[in-house]
Amino acid sequence: MINTVLMTHIQERLPASKLWAPAVSSASLTGAAVGIPTGVSNRHVHLSQADIEALFGEGYQLHPLKELSQPGQFAAKECVMVVGPKGSINNVRILGPARSETQLEVSKADCYALGIKAPVRESGDLYRSADALLVGTMGYVNLQSKVICAQRHIHMSPQDALLLGVEHGQKVRVSAGQQCGLVFEQVVVRVDDLYFLEFHIDTDEANAAGIRSGDAVYLVD
Ligand SMILES: [Zn+2]
Repeated sequence: MINTVLMTHIQERLPASKLWAPAVSSASLTGAAVGIPTGVSNRHVHLSQADIEALFGEGYQLHPLKELSQPGQFAAKECVMVVGPKGSINNVRILGPARSETQLEVSKADCYALGIKAPVRESGDLYRSADALLVGTMGYVNLQSKVICAQRHIHMSPQDALLLGVEHGQKVRVSAGQQCGLVFEQVVVRVDDLYFLEFHIDTDEANAAGIRSGDAVYLVD
């Protein structure tokens, strides 16, 4: 049963131009055909305070540049260079605030450029993940088993989960894109009181589906 308040709430966050009729028949749509806004993540790194200081100097604090859609999260003014055995990538954005453990998230295309093999993992699942070197203005940090390709996921509140008929940890299918649309499999549902409804994918995945941040996607059976 569609909660019209939530529907309105979600539709208000999506510009009219970003709403499109799903390419699949409405009979196979689930979650009351609620459009879920997409958030495309470019390569980025979350840093521990110790690693921030190793890269930028003792006592250094990140400077927020832009708030992100998930509450409390921000893109910092600071960037790092990421170096792998085959190549390097400049200006990789740091996302704040500082976390207990450093984690670098890259796409598969980035892995080829760097010459590393990062596994597809949920955030925080770093066991036997990939290595890389981070270079800041004051030093470097050798990341060992801290590099992943983030598994596609949807952030949502418990209320969103109820209305979409899904639960935390569930893997769902998501229909995305019009012209070169596709269905994303194995999308992890992540429920938290603080989460804002959003489908998170990386740049490779967004390009494959021809979608951008703000575009609506839909759960399918
Ligand atoms: Zn996310």
